[in-house]
Amino acid sequence: MTGRLADRVCLVTGGGRGIGRAICQLFAQEGARVGVADIDMELAQHTAESLTRPGLAIEMDVSSKAGVEAGFARLTAHYGCLDVLVNNAGILLSSTFEDCSEATWDRILAVNLKGTFLCCQAAIPLMKERRQGAIVNMSSVAAKSGGFTGYPPYAASKAGVSALTIGLARYLAPFKVRVNAVAPGVIATDMTKTANHAELAARIPLGEVGDPQDVAACVLFLASDEARHVTGEIIDVNGGLWMD
Ligand code: NAP
Repeated sequence: MTGRLADRVCLVTGGGRGIGRAICQLFAQEGARVGVADIDMELAQHTAESLTRPGLAIEMDVSSKAGVEAGFARLTAHYGCLDVLVNNAGILLSSTFEDCSEATWDRILAVNLKGTFLCCQAAIPLMKERRQGAIVNMSSVAAKSGGFTGYPPYAASKAGVSALTIGLARYLAPFKVRVNAVAPGVIATDMTKTANHAELAARIPLGEVGDPQDVAACVLFLASDEARHVTGEIIDVNGGLWMD
């Protein structure tokens, strides 16, 4: 532990498992006070209790404005402020263009894009007022590729996250609030458990799918003061799957 987030109050959405859980664990190791938000309270509780510095479990559906407001109210009632927001919660529902129902489209956009927007909106007054803060959004390689294996609504939602990141970074820069994103490639989590990892690894120049910790390390950099001069940036963590 190097204390890169010593005593910072951090909120991680979708923190119950996968990449979000790895982010919570790394943040806590770096001295942060972590709010673990998830739609599944049991998962949030499990992560919060497992941290080196136990965190606060928060039940939050990021696609609901009322749910987000209640979650932020719980966080600020407990910790009093917010230094870092990580918009990690996301879903991947499989569909081609032709078989994508309206309900599937709406749900993916509601969680991945609207959820990011709602949480940013809730965080802005808390950060703007203090003229400090860092927001890290979770985009995807799909934002640039259009989705290698289909998933058009997912890719569109993540392209929206990337655009939102840049627009918000420009808006919040005068208030010294930084906004960045990470764009993972293929990471071994429940989200990708049905994929053929050997086949995918063969298409990745570095020869393997990533671990949640690979993404967490990049999120930590963007959340910490080491990135004090970085804003509006989207960092690829994809083993070379997409290079530009
Ligand atoms: P994951 O293992 O499925 O974890 C996602 C977490 O978000 C779960 O705990 C999930 O809860 C929670 N969640 C889902 N809907 C939510 C909502 N409406 N409100 C709050 N929490 C919600 O996924 P992951 O692989 O760690 O992915 C994390 C992020 O990275 C996502 O934004 C994803 O799009 C992005 N990403 C992942 C990959 C990859 O290869 N894994 C690649 C690129 C980008 P439940 O378990 O109850 O659903």
